[in-house]
Amino acid sequence: MDCLFCSIIKGDIPSTKVYEDETVYAFKDINPMAPVHVLIIPKKHLSSINDVTAENSAVIAHIYEVAAQLAKELGIDESGYRVVSNCGADAGQTVFHLHFHLLGGKKLKVEMC
Ligand code: 5GP
Ligand code: ZN
Repeated sequence: MDCLFCSIIKGDIPSTKVYEDETVYAFKDINPMAPVHVLIIPKKHLSSINDVTAENSAVIAHIYEVAAQLAKELGIDESGYRVVSNCGADAGQTVFHLHFHLLGGKKLKVEMC
């Protein structure tokens, strides 16, 4: 399967890693929208939130643990941050490997849509 983020996890495409463990990989977004813009992804390929089930949802909880840990490490836990996952065309999803944007380091726009 031809998936950009699977290739990043494998190391076939370079990325700036900020965290890795058995189930999760996190790296800097190539086109940052905020001073802190990290993508947190499951190593197992899921296309979007649409693929989340009772069988695989533990990794989502773990991704939020990693988000909280990275927010502390990157110094935005007190100032605030946003965790976003775009699902499908109307949300503007462009890469179809489930990912969570961790955004912070500035006052983020309040508009959600
Ligand atoms: P989406 O629009 O699907 O929610 O988010 C995809 C994100 O992946 C975008 O913020 C985009 O900048 C980022 N992105 C796309 N290609 C690459 C890449 O090759 N490397 C990295 N680090 N980020 C990428
Ligand atoms: Zn993938």
